[in-house]
Parts: sequence; C-alpha cells; structure tokens
Amino acid sequence: MPIATTNPATGQVLKTYDEMSDEQVDAAIDRADLAFRQLRETTIAQRGRWLTAAADLLEAERDETARLMTTEMGKTYAAAKAEVTKCATACRFYAAKAPEMLADEPADAAAVKARRAYVRYQPLGPVLAVMPWNFPLWQVMRFAAPALMAGNTGLLKHASNVPQTALYLEDLFRRAGFPEGAFTTLLVGSETVDRILSDPRVRAATLTGSEGAGRSIAASAGRELKKTVLELGGSDPFVVMPSADLDKAAEVATTARCQNNGQSCIAAKRFIVHTDVFDAFAEKFAARMSALRVGDPMDEHTDVGPLASERGRDEIHAQVQDAVDNGATILCGGEKPAGDGWYYPPTVVTDLRPGMRMWSEEVFGPVAGLYRVASYEEAIEVANGTSFGLGSNAWTEDPAEQERFATDLDAGNVFINGMTTSYPELPFGGVRNSGYGRELSAVGMREFCNTKTVWVGEGEAGAGAGAHAE
Ligand code: NAP
Repeated sequence: MPIATTNPATGQVLKTYDEMSDEQVDAAIDRADLAFRQLRETTIAQRGRWLTAAADLLEAERDETARLMTTEMGKTYAAAKAEVTKCATACRFYAAKAPEMLADEPADAAAVKARRAYVRYQPLGPVLAVMPWNFPLWQVMRFAAPALMAGNTGLLKHASNVPQTALYLEDLFRRAGFPEGAFTTLLVGSETVDRILSDPRVRAATLTGSEGAGRSIAASAGRELKKTVLELGGSDPFVVMPSADLDKAAEVATTARCQNNGQSCIAAKRFIVHTDVFDAFAEKFAARMSALRVGDPMDEHTDVGPLASERGRDEIHAQVQDAVDNGATILCGGEKPAGDGWYYPPTVVTDLRPGMRMWSEEVFGPVAGLYRVASYEEAIEVANGTSFGLGSNAWTEDPAEQERFATDLDAGNVFINGMTTSYPELPFGGVRNSGYGRELSAVGMREFCNTKTVWVGEGEAGAGAGAHAE
C-alpha cells in the first residue's frame, strides 16, 4: 500500500511519502533502545509531567489535529475533535494514576517464608505498535500513554493512509519533553513488520487491526517468543428484549452503528431483536438510519462522512449485494452513490441467514443487520454465533435478564442499556478471533511490564533454609 494522504471526501491524493529504508529503521530501533535506557531511569513523576504536557498540547492543537484526521480518513470534524479531547483525557488519567498502578504490591511474606515479598512492575523496552486508521489518534494513544508512563519506548507502524497523523504523534511526544527516540514513527509498509519483530531490541508488539494482520503478527512474534496484544475485528451484537425502552434503544443503535462512519471495531453490527418488539424496533431504527445526513465530513450538520477508502466501500457494498442476492431484504439504503468521495448511505438489511457473508463477517461501514429471535436462548445463540468476541450490547429492563446477559454473552465486554465504548478506567479487548490481551486501565498498562516477583529472605537463615528448592 502506498504511504499517502488521500482525502476520502474527494479521492484526491494530497501527499505521498517514501518508505524508510532498512538502515533508517535500524537506526530508529537503535534510538528507541537508547531512549529506553534513559527513560527507565526517570521517575514516574517526571514521565507524568511529560504526559501532562502532551495533554496540554493536544488540547491547544485540537482543531488543526482534528482537521488533519478528517482529511486523512474522513471521520466527521466533530468526531475528530472529540477524539483529540479523549486522548488528552487518557494522558491525564495515566499521568495521575500510574504511580499507584506501578507501585510495588506487597505479598503475604509469612506464607512464602520471606522477610519481605512483593511484586514490582518494570518496563520491557521498545514495543512495536501496529495501528489502524479508523481512530488514528486514539488507537495509538491508548497504547502509548500507559506504555510510556511505565517506561517503555514506542515504535509506531501506523496504517499507510494516515502518515501525517502518525508523524504528528512522534512530534507531539518529542515536544512534550520525552527523550529523543522515546516514541518514533516508522514510515514502512506491512511487509516490514516481520523484520522489525525479529530485531532482538524490540521486546513486544501490539496490533489493532484485522484478523489477517493479527494472524501474521502473532506468527512472527511466536517465532521470536515475543509478547503480543491483539485488538482485532468484531461483529458486536446489540440485543433488544421486550422490556427495553425501544425509543432509546433505536436512538443508541443508530449511533452505535454509524459512529465514525460505521468504521469502528466496537460498532454494534448485528441487531438481534425479540419477535414481540421486532416490527416496532425495525420501524424506529430504519427511520432514524434514513434520517442521518451523509456528506462533507467538515460540515457541522453531517452525521456520516465518506468511508476511508474506495476498497472499503466496495467491500461493504459487496456484502450487502451478497445478502440481497441470497434473499435478504433492504429496509433502507443499499445503493452506492455516484460522484466523488467514498460515501455509502446508512443501510438496514433483514431476513439474513447463515451462509450469507453478513451473517459471519465483520461489516465495516454504516450497514446494520437485523435479526428476529423468538427467545432469550435464541438471542444468545445468534449473538455468540460468529467467530468474534469483542463488544456486546443488550437492552432489557429486567434485572435478572441483565445478569444473564452479563454472563452469557461471549465477548470482552457487555454494555447493558448502552453502547460499547472505551474508557481509560476500564479494560478493553476481546476474546476468540477478536484477539487477546487488554488495553486501558491498570490491566492494559501491565501488559507491557515485567511482573517481577521479589523475595527477600531472613539473611543467612532464610536463604540457607532451602525454602525455594524448586
Ligand atoms: P488492517 O488492514 O489489519 O491494518 C491495521 C494495521 O496493520 C495497519 O498498520 C496495516 O498496515 C497493518 N497490517 C495489515 N496487514 C498486515 C500484516 N499482514 N502484517 C503486519 N501488519 C499488517 O486493518 P484496517 O483495515 O486498517 O482496520 C480495520 C480493522 O481493524 C477492522 O477489522 C477493525 O475491527 C479492527 N479494529 C480493531 C480494534 C480493536 O480495538 N479491537 C480497533 C480498531 C480497529 P498498512 O496500512 O500498511 O496495510
């Protein structure tokens, strides 16, 4: 894939970049390794001041950074501004909370026959981050803020269509005060990732992206015995039961499907509705989806901008066509518009059946699949019936049913009467083909730490007692 900024609203190529040579990549890894030695000697308080400075810069530069993201991948300007603010909030969160998250954790010394025993969290070293374009700032920040706070350094291989946002991130951390090399953007294609992972100075990797990229990076990292965190795709269920507030559910369903122009891993994609309320929900939902304004992402009245690439639009249209060709029904949308820009109308498809692409694949655009179910059991069967397990949503006012959903939905998170979103305070990640490991919260920060056990004996008596013969 060429490394270039192409405006999805016009299809115009605005800026292209040469890939870095192997020598340039090696020099960058060298700098990341040197910076790691420096960074791990700094105090958490110092790193917190730098991260706070990054938050200040993000807030001061919000509008121009947002414009850049909109130009590179088409999200609405309003959504882009909110993304910048969310990044600043995460920086402040980790600057404030890292001291307690990284503090030594005392263990029961008597139980392990020690004078003192504790767990210490220490950084691993340079971590490779392979990132997607859909939240070009946030996806990177939710790795970088905790990783840098813990004392790791970051090597970013961003998606090839957001090079300017990628370079902005490197510049941001440098201006915030982090040492040269602490966070570096590598302008390379995906075929270079295996080579970077085989460098012994690179200690771990994190990927947010597709299943295919996940398999490839996990294979490379497995060969090198390196830790990975994988945040992959999803086809999140959004279950609506008879006791739900249907107006609210339809309103949130529309946002949950179409936020970020429908290109979110945790977008609700499959709307699984109990037959008692199916017709009423379908009518409200289709009406709201049809009412969304599609257009120029810089226009404040626009709800849904263009898809990020022509390939992405062709893909979702092919998924819709496949469903229709095999007997599905379109309630709204479904037509690929003519003209410039990679726009696609909010679309609702029903009468879906196993074997159709939409039944089992992730749909990465503003297209909702609507499923009718006759019972709670059938809702769970359909909800858990894909290979994914990222987010999940269930709408019910029945407290007992809420508890059942929390247990039975096979996903990394369950949001009841709301839509899946990410918060720095809560762990984020998936199960099954949606990946493994977690980002955010203390759990995310510790993914790239050495959880080191420290055992201190009773001088000669303790050490000589052979308490730890293994
Ligand atoms: P993608 O094609 O997998 O690209 C993601 C990143 O991986 C890019 O930097 C890409 O580089 C790189 N890449 C692609 N194939 C690779 C390979 N074989 N080896 C090494 N690197 C590789 O995914 P995308 O289309 O940009 O993003 C959409 C996908 O990401 C969706 O499936 C979405 O659900 C998922 N996603 C998941 C989360 C989550 O938190 N779980 C969040 C956001 C998105 P190039 O750009 O150079 O190809």
